[in-house]
Amino acid sequence: MKTLIEHLDFVLTVDQDDSVIRDAAVVIEGDKIIDIGPSADVFQRHDRGGFKLIKDGTLKGMCPGFIDSHVHLSETLSRAVFPDNLNTRAWVFHWAKPFYAHITADDEYCGALLGITEMLRCGTTCFLDMGSQYDPGITVKAMEQTGMRGITGRHAADNPPEVYPRGWTDEMVKHHFYANADEALQELESCVKKYHGALDGRARCWVNIEGKEPCTLELHVGARKLAEKLGVGTTYHLATSIEEAKVCEEKHGVWPITRIEQAGGLGNNLVIAHGVAVSDDEVGTLASYDAKVVFCPSSSFKLGKGATAIGKYPELVAAGVTVGLGTDGVSAAGNMNLMRQMFMVAGMFKDARMQSDIFTARQALRAATTEGAKTLMWDDEVGSLEIGKKADFILFDLDHIEWTPFHDPLQALVFSASTATIEETWVNGVALFKDGRVAGVDEQELKRKARELAAAAVERAGLDREDVPKSTTLYDSGN
Ligand SMILES: [Zn+2]
Repeated sequence: MKTLIEHLDFVLTVDQDDSVIRDAAVVIEGDKIIDIGPSADVFQRHDRGGFKLIKDGTLKGMCPGFIDSHVHLSETLSRAVFPDNLNTRAWVFHWAKPFYAHITADDEYCGALLGITEMLRCGTTCFLDMGSQYDPGITVKAMEQTGMRGITGRHAADNPPEVYPRGWTDEMVKHHFYANADEALQELESCVKKYHGALDGRARCWVNIEGKEPCTLELHVGARKLAEKLGVGTTYHLATSIEEAKVCEEKHGVWPITRIEQAGGLGNNLVIAHGVAVSDDEVGTLASYDAKVVFCPSSSFKLGKGATAIGKYPELVAAGVTVGLGTDGVSAAGNMNLMRQMFMVAGMFKDARMQSDIFTARQALRAATTEGAKTLMWDDEVGSLEIGKKADFILFDLDHIEWTPFHDPLQALVFSASTATIEETWVNGVALFKDGRVAGVDEQELKRKARELAAAAVERAGLDREDVPKSTTLYDSGN
């Protein structure tokens, strides 16, 4: 049976031409959009008696569900734990890693549920998750419970530092760092075989690794080749800060992307998270391999990664590189809100370059939707609102002060509206956020449990103490 949503004030389709339909109607059957267009046209093609539900879209607007192209769902309990005055490397090695060393599989499940709940409240309908320190099944279970769509994996590494920093445990090193690249790749292959295509195709599993210093070159290159063999993608962190690029140059004579390229590691199934330290030549290199890049504005702002100072995201887009938007983990970014990322990216490069026509609102919405879908290699099914695509979308309440008036819906969406105006979030033809609540979770109980588990993990990891280092020389020398 079909559902009709009629007389929507607008639909931002984010199709190839960024078409905006006024007084629009959408017909949903099962998990798909089977018709979309001006209400008068859609009415002519369907018998009103054939609908199970007819929903009035007056003073409502629709856009595709947002796609979070880089997130750490299993790390959600680390919100607001690490200080905001650390550089990326000190943040990773002295705070994030010790914290995650003390996270249990139960903590990860609670974190994934919490993250997905935040996503659905913020209009996100699909994600690329870096994955679990334990088993991708943890995130898949949270997706099953909530009805969410996404890609997850096993966040693997194989190159621990020679001396373990404070807070690192043998157990953490054992479950996070494999003995070598072959062992890691074997485990990653079995994860893909087990979880890729689960939940009737709503869950996918990729060959995900952590990337940069904690991974050998062999693992970076091997992950992409294995992913190619398995018909999936791979994602890892690379060129995430100028410090990382400088360490790479000192040790290997080149910046990170060139190092991977020279080893044969670039390809169209590689999604590079961050990619902030990228040279002009490397912009062209990434384009020639059709490699994807995910920009995480909140994470860059909070950790001072230098997107506005050295980031080449407008140049990457201009060179034809697919650039998606991500939130990163809540410890790095503070939130899983793609509307905030759109707002930031639609202004930061204009301001930094004093040029108002680069990375505009239109490009920001594309990055959060259809370009994200291309990044995730899922654009045949999601990312835009067109006939035959999955019914993954957001309904906004336009009878809200933030949408008043909404002459150009795109500008109102990117620069004026907040997630408080999201009325419903649909995934796969089902309203997962509706009437102020996320279906499938008891939000009160989830919040209570998350607070309790997070406080216990902070204590176990010793991050409530005064002597946690705020700078690092790890990986600076040696291997
Ligand atoms: Zn990340």
